[in-house]
Amino acid sequence: MESNYENEAPLMFYDYAEVAKRPNFRPEIDTSKHKIEKIISKSIFPDKHPCGKKDCHQPHKNGWVVETVDNLETLVGSKCGLEWGGDTFLSQIAALDKRIKRESKLKIISEFIQNTDLLIERVHEIKTRTNGALWLSKTITRLETECTEDIFRNLKRRAAKGETSVTKDVLKTKEERELESSMNVGVSSSAYKTLIIGHLDGLEVLNFDIRQILIQKIYSTVISLKHVNPSTLSTPALNKLSLELGEIDTLFLQAEDILGYGKKFFSNESNFKLIKALDIENKHGHLTKINWMDNT
Ligand SMILES: [Zn+2]
Repeated sequence: MESNYENEAPLMFYDYAEVAKRPNFRPEIDTSKHKIEKIISKSIFPDKHPCGKKDCHQPHKNGWVVETVDNLETLVGSKCGLEWGGDTFLSQIAALDKRIKRESKLKIISEFIQNTDLLIERVHEIKTRTNGALWLSKTITRLETECTEDIFRNLKRRAAKGETSVTKDVLKTKEERELESSMNVGVSSSAYKTLIIGHLDGLEVLNFDIRQILIQKIYSTVISLKHVNPSTLSTPALNKLSLELGEIDTLFLQAEDILGYGKKFFSNESNFKLIKALDIENKHGHLTKINWMDNT
């Protein structure tokens, strides 16, 4: 007999009272009189409750709600479950777990669908705020235009390697050279020494393309939700979408981090002196320190 919709059990129970109040629930069942037919739900309780098999009563926190042929419901632990159903029990658990996973993904997707407009607004806000994504993209392009090609490439390479210190080779003093030669008899050493003249603060900003994160990753995923009816999605499509949505919060945080690096990098006057210093070999750049934080 099919149970009607009103009476349909949820896939998971987290509260014993919720199971216990079901009209067909029995805390104890004599399985010699009422044959178990199938598993209907999983139960995860904070405290232990006895197995519903009359000759067991072993208390469990986690178990399953089973239904008998005559529509009674009770709890069983895994030992009794296996005793009753063996492989049937295991395959029903696997099927139930699969449905639980699908249901939780559907729930996440539905929440995102309800929040589509808010998410789009959030993308727009990050884009258009003072020193937001639009400003950052424009400012990086400007840096690229004003630097020589070599220097911009050099900066990108440094950013990728996390190499923020800028060095300069300077002549050693007479004293330094004398001290060195007294210590390394017969070894001729370089007349120059390498000094760190500063660190490029916020250089990481050049590792990212904030437009790509906001538009290609966040916005396009969110906008695609407008045409999605989650309950009709195939399992692979559902998995893919829930993975993409699961990343959205991380991507929003990443966008904020990138804007933080950008503010650090472009508000720091000494960064421009250092880039100029890097540019010493190359006279074609025309990098000027004007107000890089300006949004216009
Ligand atoms: Zn039991």
